[in-house]
Amino acid sequence: MSHLTGSCLCGAVKIRVPDEFPFMGNCHCSECRKWTGSAYSSAAMVDAGDFEVTQGEEAISTYQKTDETDLGFCKHCGSSLYSKKVNRGKYIIRLGILDDTPTQRPAAHIFVGSKAPWYEISDGLQQFEEGPN
Ligand SMILES: [Zn+2]
Ligand SMILES: [Zn+2]
Repeated sequence: MSHLTGSCLCGAVKIRVPDEFPFMGNCHCSECRKWTGSAYSSAAMVDAGDFEVTQGEEAISTYQKTDETDLGFCKHCGSSLYSKKVNRGKYIIRLGILDDTPTQRPAAHIFVGSKAPWYEISDGLQQFEEGPN
């Protein structure tokens, strides 16, 4: 299987993931909006065993959002890297950190029920009020 590499804005952190994701989509929830500073977060799920930090592990800070979710970011440049689902053993990486082009494309919009009122979704992708089932 081929892999994709990614990095933060300052380059301190580098990651590597398989080029095959169980889910890839755009999350419009208010928390992703805050955390990314954007209308929505384009993200993809990776099994924890497939997620590699190839450089700069020590540059990653985490914010414990909930008991289940840690948010990882670069402590030097502030780039949002991933949310880690602690009990489910998953990482949800932010697609903006990828330096390679993934084969897949976002398949859906999720948490559309709480999307930014100033942002209009203008593509034909499937929309979910909350998470996909
Ligand atoms: Zn950085
Ligand atoms: Zn979200």
